[in-house]
Amino acid sequence: MKKTQRHTYRFNPHTLKYEKVFVSLRERIRRISFSVLFGVVLGVLIVFVALQFMESPKERAMKRELAQYRRQTRLLDDRVERAEKVLENLEERDDALYRSIFAVPPIGEAERHSGIGGVERYSAFDNLGDGEQLKVTSMRVDDLTKRVYVESKSLDELYEMARTKTERMASMPAIMPVSKDKGQVVSGFGYRFHPILHTHRLHAGIDISARQGTPIYATGDGVVRVAGRTPQGYSGYGVVAVIDHGYGFQTLYAHMSDIKVRVGQKVKRGEQIGTVGSTGMSTGAHLHYEVFQNGKNVDPVYYFFNDLTPEEYENVLEQARQDNQSMS
Ligand SMILES: [Zn+2]
Repeated sequence: MKKTQRHTYRFNPHTLKYEKVFVSLRERIRRISFSVLFGVVLGVLIVFVALQFMESPKERAMKRELAQYRRQTRLLDDRVERAEKVLENLEERDDALYRSIFAVPPIGEAERHSGIGGVERYSAFDNLGDGEQLKVTSMRVDDLTKRVYVESKSLDELYEMARTKTERMASMPAIMPVSKDKGQVVSGFGYRFHPILHTHRLHAGIDISARQGTPIYATGDGVVRVAGRTPQGYSGYGVVAVIDHGYGFQTLYAHMSDIKVRVGQKVKRGEQIGTVGSTGMSTGAHLHYEVFQNGKNVDPVYYFFNDLTPEEYENVLEQARQDNQSMS
């Protein structure tokens, strides 16, 4: 059998010749169709198999993108971890040092880590391929946010305490109203015999005897609320001044000979407000001094702590304790 471009020949044993074989058009169309069909099926098969093992450019791009996301998630995790460590350190210092300086209780783990929202808050991550990792990161970021909030509130609170502590310390009555070398405590706080009324009654302040004209000082920062000779409600006090120090403290200075402040005036601790005298119900030159805390009389000797040595203070306490007669 020999094949040329167009014709097929077949050996004929009867004629002993090669004879041209004629193929019908129909047969030729059939054969061509078959070849084409076979080619198409084979082609589709090859492409299908190839797709199983090869990536399209789009797939490659998406894979790159996914890897990029994973890298970024890991970087985010590292940063969250670093932030957690910094915050942890701050929380420890806050509880152990800063809060203890101001004698406020530490905040504690429970309050710092109290959660935000519920479990369903993170359910959106459950259906994602990398959901678990993102869920954990998201929970850590939320925890961090809450802790930063708690810590910032704590620092605000401490700042406020530190700020008002200075002011409070400056305002509290803390010195003797007459300098210690010019006056002497002659009668203390408590039940004393009244020299003019001749009865045993509560002596609501302390009497400091001093020469007429000895300077009297404001014992803490404040504002003058009462100033003058026997104002209403202060009968017997003579020339008197009352200073409001804020934070619940007030001080009263009575029997003065001269007054150097007026109502509404701001005064500083140690500023002179008047001079010792014997005005009102008094038996001699002295200062009658009272301290009020939240509207109630308290023993003024407990507010002399700024300018006395321990021995001097002991001495003042001794003098104030004597059960004697007040100078009124
Ligand atoms: Zn008195």
